[in-house]
Formats: sequence, C-alpha cells, structure tokens
Amino acid sequence: MTRVVIFNLIAGVAGGLVAKSKGRSPVFWGLLSFFFPFALIIVFFLPAVLAVQSGKQCANCRRAIPKDAVLCPYCGNQQPIEMIECPNCRSFVQRNRNCPNCGRAL
Ligand SMILES: [Zn+2]
Ligand SMILES: [Zn+2]
Repeated sequence: MTRVVIFNLIAGVAGGLVAKSKGRSPVFWGLLSFFFPFALIIVFFLPAVLAVQSGKQCANCRRAIPKDAVLCPYCGNQQPIEMIECPNCRSFVQRNRNCPNCGRAL
C-alpha cells in the first residue's frame, strides 16, 4: 500500500514538472498524475503551450497566432507583412519567401 502511495507521489511530482516545463498548470497536472499516473504520459506528449506564445499577436483581436500566419485563424484579419532585408542583395523582401531579386531562401 505504502509503495503505491510513493509511486503516485513520484508520478504527481513528475507530472507537475513536465507540465511546468511546457507552460501548462503544474498544480492541475501534478494532482491529475498523482491520482491517475496515466496522465503523466498524456502531459508528456502534449505540445508545449510556449510554442504558441512565441508566435505573434493578431493586430485586430490580440490573440496569439503562428508567427508566419498571413490571416488570423480567429477573426480572419489580414496581418501586416513583415519585411526583412535580403542579406545577399540588400533589397527588402517579405519574410519566409525566397528573395524575388536573387532567389536566395530567407
Ligand atoms: Zn485576429
Ligand atoms: Zn536577394
């Protein structure tokens, strides 16, 4: 019996740590993993929330959207195009496209 409790404690702590490292609630996932150690496997395979937050913000509805999104998936607002300087020919081109001047991948 004691051994089961220790196993659940370890699963709970591990679940909390994994959740925290992925930007999810460590308390929620810690408790869930404590009572259902199977949740540890679920949180382990869940995508990190941080990946979404490292995108950009919609200019209209302020929600987090993927960095290379042209249209906001929530409100359909067209996003301002990011222009960068081509390191090869020094012309200003759209990010994530090949340079229209020299064909260099950006
Ligand atoms: Zn939007
Ligand atoms: Zn170029």
